[in-house]
Amino acid sequence: MFVAYCDECEDRFLLPASHVVAVHNLASGVIAVELTCYENHRVLVMSGNDIDIQGPATV
Ligand SMILES: [Zn+2]
Repeated sequence: MFVAYCDECEDRFLLPASHVVAVHNLASGVIAVELTCYENHRVLVMSGNDIDIQGPATV
């Protein structure tokens, strides 16, 4: 599950892995996960060891 904030919905969602569109490795230990919210908006979540925010626990 991913905690993602959608700018267009102005709301925070808990999104399952089935909403993942793409995963990008930006740098060592930094991952950008592209998801869609329940309204099909594109949401980007940053994750990884060096990012001090709530990230995905599992994929
Ligand atoms: Zn949305």
